[in-house]
Order: sequence, then structure tokens, then C-alpha cells
Amino acid sequence: MRTPTDLMADIGEVLLDEDRIQARIRELGAQISADYAGRRITLVSVLKGSLPFMADLMRSITLPLRIDLMEVSSYGGATTESSGLVRILKDLSTSIEGEEVLICEDIIDTGLTLNYLIRYLKGKRPTSLRICTLLDKPARRLVEIPVDYTGFTIPDQFVVGYGLDYDELYRNLRFVGVLKPEVYAAPE
Ligand code: 5GP
Repeated sequence: MRTPTDLMADIGEVLLDEDRIQARIRELGAQISADYAGRRITLVSVLKGSLPFMADLMRSITLPLRIDLMEVSSYGGATTESSGLVRILKDLSTSIEGEEVLICEDIIDTGLTLNYLIRYLKGKRPTSLRICTLLDKPARRLVEIPVDYTGFTIPDQFVVGYGLDYDELYRNLRFVGVLKPEVYAAPE
């Protein structure tokens, strides 16, 4: 695996800077707090990419809330493509039966991963199940996903940062950016 010496040098374009991301998350938090007023919610985050988003979103919500974490991976396929066959690497650690569940996703691309997760989580009989995604890339959608809260709609580009990785790196960048094409083409 190629290890970059300067993460910033690999970024061709900053799509969403830190201020824009944080401002939008404050708006989402205010809206979610108003929509669920008087109730308690359970945020379910999908590791690892959604970690920074959930950490910031939960602190923008003023309601009583619980959090839980899942980790999933797609079977087979290239590293930037979703196959739709999802394997659960880490399941919920609490019951969501009778709970108001809000899934916190980093990005929806084809929608195949979330389509699977929605069916899986509905089987656990929550009172309600809604979806909040930081990023939406509708251009490549293969299945319709009822998204309740969207941070930003972005073009069909592979992005990294603010939790999102390429080869497990770049997650710690405070912004969302597009990698330079030569990073993909770099020899092993
Ligand atoms: P989907 O099943 O909707 O096609 O894929 C969702 C998952 O694919 C996301 O949770 C994320 O892990 C990965 N993914 C999709 N698009 C991007 C992207 O532009 N950048 C990164 N880093 N991951 C992506």
C-alpha cells in the first residue's frame, strides 16, 4: 500500500471546507431536534466513515439520545464500487425495538448498502426508522432510498476526508475533497 507523506498534496480540490460542513451539521441538528421534539432518539452510525459525522451531529442535537454502531462491508467488487451484498462485521449492541432510530450515514452512492441496512434494521422493530446522510451522490443510485435529511448533494466524484477514506487513509482530514487522479494510478 502506498503511504502518502503529505495528505494535503494528494487533494486536487476541496469540495466542502470545515466551516461549511460544521454550519450545515448545526442546521441538521436543529431540524432533527425540532422534528423529534419531546421524544428520544437512537442514532445508528455505520462505521467507519460516519464516525466524525455522528460525533458532530449528536452534539448539535438537543434531545435525549442514545447511540449505537454497526460496521458492514461489501462482498467482492473493486474497492470503490459497492456490490450490494453486505456482510455485518459489527452488529448493534443495544435493542432498538420500540425506539425512534435515525441512521447516520457518511455518503449514499448506489444506495445498495443502505437498502440492505434498512431492511435489516426494520426487522428489529423500531417505532420509526429515518435516514440522515452527510453526502448524497444521486447520479449513481441503483435503488431508491427515502432520505430524510441530507447535508450536501455532490457530483459523481470519489471523495475523501471527514471520515471518508481511500485505502483506509485520509479519514482525518477536516474537509471533504477530491483526490488527484495520480493517487489512484500510483503503483503499489
Ligand atoms: P453504496 O452502497 O451507496 O454504493 O455505497 C456506500 C458506501 O460506499 C459508503 O458508505 C462509502 O463507504 C462508500 N463510498 C461511496 N462513495 C464514496 C466516495 O465518494 N468516497 C469514499 N471514500 N467512499 C465512498
